[in-house]
Order: sequence, then structure tokens, then C-alpha cells
Amino acid sequence: MVKFFARPYVAGDSLAKGLEVTRGLIQRRGVLTTFDLLSEDIETVEQVAEIRAVYRDMIASCAEFTDPRTRPTVSLKPSSFTVNARLATVDDGQSVSAPASEEAIVELAELAAAQDVALSIDMEDRRWTQWTLDVAERLWMAGHRHVGIVLQTRLHRTEEDLSRIPRGIRVRLVIGIYNEPAEHAIRDKRQMKKRLLDAAKLLFERGHYVEFATHDRAWNVRFLEEVVPAAGVGPDRYEVQMLYGVPMLRFQDDLVAGKIGRQGPVRVRVYVPFATSWDHALAYLRRRLGENPTMAFSVGRNLLRGSIGRR
Ligand SMILES: Cc1cc2nc3c(=O)[nH]c(=O)nc-3n(C[C@H](O)[C@H](O)[C@H](O)COP(=O)(O)OP(=O)(O)OC[C@H]3O[C@@H](n4cnc5c(N)ncnc54)[C@H](O)[C@@H]3O)c2cc1C
Repeated sequence: MVKFFARPYVAGDSLAKGLEVTRGLIQRRGVLTTFDLLSEDIETVEQVAEIRAVYRDMIASCAEFTDPRTRPTVSLKPSSFTVNARLATVDDGQSVSAPASEEAIVELAELAAAQDVALSIDMEDRRWTQWTLDVAERLWMAGHRHVGIVLQTRLHRTEEDLSRIPRGIRVRLVIGIYNEPAEHAIRDKRQMKKRLLDAAKLLFERGHYVEFATHDRAWNVRFLEEVVPAAGVGPDRYEVQMLYGVPMLRFQDDLVAGKIGRQGPVRVRVYVPFATSWDHALAYLRRRLGENPTMAFSVGRNLLRGSIGRR
């Protein structure tokens, strides 16, 4: 059942298959990509070493795309580089200690910088938030302008994080996938999406590049037709992001063709996860479904739509 769900959302079980998908998206539809290796439930240092090696290959493969404007970026999850990351909490259980993850991220950030490949650090559950922002800030202070972060609008703390993050750092805005307790996050989805617009507005004012990542058409349109013109920024200051497999091809094509918004073609970037085995891919989806069961509904409905030909 989970495998049935996973297939449309995972670009394949090898780097080569992931690259094929990514090349197809740019060549056939003008859609950009960010590339992610699915790696869940890491239990040994050997696995961590393998993941680091695959990431090195990913960065080198992305660098081979000669046009920097269409070169894929790389996304990574900090927990992938820590053995038994679920247990990596400190003292109060509210934050993590993950030196191995930081070491890996620094190595990959340096490698990516040397090859002119942009890197995004995904945001995991709230225990990782401060840790991740701290690592990103240290990278920024070390001069790494190619590293981007993710902010989740469901979290209460995000309002303050928006004014604390390094001015100008690239930011992907999401509502957040992790179900967090009420003391840390809001529950109302509409409110989370409204916060996407508010956060985008603030980020533009502070000079950031905004990656607006939601599958909600209406809020994408509001971003492009309300926030962008009001901020007076050009199309080189933002992009729209979606996950591979979510059936929004027509909407993406309309964005790329400049039919939505007021500034002509919109950069669309699709998040393309691949795995080195189906086990990792299934672990990813299982965890996602466990954390956010409403996703099962979305996925099921979209699979059904896909199977009857809707785009
Ligand atoms: C490029 C990208 C990167 C992301 N990175 C992170 C991250 O680093 N950390 C994090 O916490 N979250 C991340 N997310 C997930 C994000 O936080 C949301 O959980 C997710 O996008 C669903 O919320 P939504 O805004 O799309 O709105 P929703 O209201 O959940 O979705 C709008 C519509 O899109 C469809 N839909 C949404 N998600 C799916 C899906 N997976 N499969 C099928 N259909 C779907 C549904 O039909 C739904 O009605 C990322 C999302 C994207 C697009």
C-alpha cells in the first residue's frame, strides 16, 4: 500500500534515475529542480558515510549542468547524517545535539560552493529548528551565500525567526509537514497559509530571495498577484516550489508560460526526491503519513485524479 503511494513521488531508486527525471523536467517543460536523497532511520556510521558519498555525487552531477540558470539545487535533511537521529535529543527533549550532521553539512556546503551548486537545508520537526538555523547562520558567517533555509509558518517562533535570520539568506517558505503541539504551533491551515503571504512580504522587505512552496493554487496566485507587485520586486527575487508527483502540471506550465501573475514567466522548481533503495523511499513516506495522516487523503485523491487524467 505504502509502495503504491510512494511511486509517483519518488524519482527512482538510483542517482541516474533521479537525474533523468530532473533533465526531463527542465528540457521538456522548463521546470527547475531541487534534488534530495531520501534517507530515513539511519542506524550505522557506515550508512551515514554512504549518504555523504551519494551527496558528493549529487553535487558533482548537478555541477555538470552547464547553464547555471537551470542547474538543479541540492536539498538535504540534517537528521540523515546522525545515527539514530530520533534519539538525538538533549536534556529537555526539546532540541537536538547533532555534531555529525553539522560536520557533514559543512563539508557538503563547501563542496557545493566550489562547484557553484546551491544547497538548501530542509527543516525538520521543531526540535531541529534552532539547531538548523544556527548551522545555517554559521555557514552564512563563513561566507556561504549559496546555502538556503526553510521556515515553517505553522510554528509560533517563526515570526521572530523572520527577523533574526541573516539578512538576504535564501528562504523556502512552507506551512510545515510536522504535526506540532499547540504550545509550539497553530492548527488552522488557512492561518498558516495567510502567514506564508505575510512572511513573504517581510522577507522581500529584508532583501531575501523567496521560495514560495505550497501546492495551494489560490495562495500561489495571491503571492504572485498581491505580494510580489506590492513589494516591487522583479522575477529574479522569487520562485514557486512544489513536490515532484503532486499533479499540478498544468498550473506549473501556466506559471512557466507567464499566464499567472503580472511579471511574465515565473520560475517553478520541483523538489525531486530519489532513493538508493525502495526501502528508504518507503520509510520516508511511512514517516510522512504517520506524522501527518491527512496527507494520505491528499495523496489518495491526487492518485485518483492522476489516474483519470487530470493535470
Ligand atoms: C518544495 C517543497 C519543499 C518542502 N520542504 C519542507 C521542509 O523542509 N520542511 C517541512 O516541514 N515541510 C516541507 N514541505 C512540506 C510543506 O510544509 C507542506 O506540508 C506541504 O507542502 C503541504 O502543504 P501545502 O501548503 O501544499 O497545502 P495543503 O493544503 O496541504 O495542500 C494543498 C493541496 O495540494 C495537494 N497536496 C499537498 N501535499 C500533497 C502531497 N504530498 N501529495 C499529494 N498532494 C498533495 C492536496 O491536494 C491539497 O489539497 C515542503 C513542500 C514543498 C512543496
